[in-house]
Amino acid sequence: MSRDRYPRIGTEMKAQTKFCSCCDQPAVKRIDVQTDWMRGNDDVMQVCDAHLVMARASQWRRLYHDHETEQRKRRDEHEVATLVPRVNCPTCSRRVKETGLADHMRDSHGVPKQ
Ligand SMILES: [Zn+2]
Ligand SMILES: [Zn+2]
Repeated sequence: MSRDRYPRIGTEMKAQTKFCSCCDQPAVKRIDVQTDWMRGNDDVMQVCDAHLVMARASQWRRLYHDHETEQRKRRDEHEVATLVPRVNCPTCSRRVKETGLADHMRDSHGVPKQ
């Protein structure tokens, strides 16, 4: 009896996102990657032409490497994008959110909001 080999592609369907999960190319397919016999453990990836070829050729090590690299890059970019701009309060020099400066001036220094 031959045993199933994992990972392998479960299903391929139309891409649901604009970009590949593994690089910045447009996604062409969504693939469910079966990592073991438990369907709850499937990985879902949106892949471009090149990464689809990689998946079909079972080059999982490369695919997962690209996937991790790209996801990490996006997380970093997201964190940079969500950093709130801060300014120094002119009165007490504390770092406060730029959008919260007026509130801080009122609450900490009794300056009425304009
Ligand atoms: Zn790709
Ligand atoms: Zn202050």
